[in-house]
Amino acid sequence: MKPTGVFLDPLPSQEDDLATLRRSAFLCGIADAVACDCLARARVRTLAPGETLIHRGVAHGILYVLLSGELSVALAHAAQRQHRPDLQQVAQVLPGATVGEQSILDGQAPDAWVVAKTPARLLAISEADTWQLMQDHPPVALNLMRILSARVRKSNVVVCDAIQVQERLAFDAHTDVLTGLHNRRSMESRYADCLRQAQSLGHGVALLMVDIDHFKGVNDGYGHAAGDEVLRQTAACIKAHLPASALLARYGGDEICVLLTGEHDLQACDQAQRVCQAVFGNAVAVESGRTVAVSVSIGVAHWDLRSPLQTLVQAADAALYHAKTQGRNSVVLQS
Ligand code: GH3
Ligand code: MG
Repeated sequence: MKPTGVFLDPLPSQEDDLATLRRSAFLCGIADAVACDCLARARVRTLAPGETLIHRGVAHGILYVLLSGELSVALAHAAQRQHRPDLQQVAQVLPGATVGEQSILDGQAPDAWVVAKTPARLLAISEADTWQLMQDHPPVALNLMRILSARVRKSNVVVCDAIQVQERLAFDAHTDVLTGLHNRRSMESRYADCLRQAQSLGHGVALLMVDIDHFKGVNDGYGHAAGDEVLRQTAACIKAHLPASALLARYGGDEICVLLTGEHDLQACDQAQRVCQAVFGNAVAVESGRTVAVSVSIGVAHWDLRSPLQTLVQAADAALYHAKTQGRNSVVLQS
């Protein structure tokens, strides 16, 4: 296939171009005669800044070696790129680098756009000439394999980075930023899973609804930042005094709920008492060296193996209400 597009210059003969080719990954380590042969077969294409060299999905059948200037590889077309800096460049192409070789080797249309960032000059080698070069000079084929191998490794790094970002986003979406506990959304799905599993195994489940006493007073008396610190440390204290299998979630404001399953269900009130005492004995140090005495009230409810999560939450909430009205810093089991 003959090169398409606008080819403004005649064959390049400048020393600079030859020097760039000698250094290029495509022809590096290969005799000058091959580079000259390559130049003799090829043509030069020039691009203005912003001009598109390769369109995603459009077969072009040309291998390009960048002689001067800079190109960028983008995964979105110009209209999308306009307002999305993140889509503007996935790779930078500098002199000596090749573009388009993958499509020649696998016969597929390109999967990205290649656009000139600056005025650019490229050596354009047709598909037929590229294959001929590889046949006549096998080290050229080896160089292309190296180029592709480097590209695959780079893609692997990009994929790994993307997986890490995805994991981070998934974690953030399910975690309460302040306490590090499950957030309300995560709690609902995790708790529902637990109830289903407990039902199939015939295990008991208990829910503790824990609420900090007079927390508003902490904010009012010590400031919101101190309130945050009290929330953080109280959550950590509650977690530290429960079995590792307990599922803790920040239900909202100063309320934390805890799901206990299996054998821990039977000891739910004891566990709640222990939490209550631990929090009361754990004054929280806040800024300026002051300490805040904290207590919690806890409502406890046992699941009846049938009712929905919402009913269990309501029962624990009702018990919590009694704990508040009977003087706080105490545990009340659902009646
Ligand atoms: P009670 O003993 O009846 O539970 O009294 P309380 O003051 O703890 O109850 P109330 O629900 O009236 O107050 C909870 C307060 O928690 C109100 C709200 O401003 C505060 N709050 C909610 N979320 C946060 C938070 O993320 N950080 C801080 N510092 N305060 C919060
Ligand atoms: Mg409260």
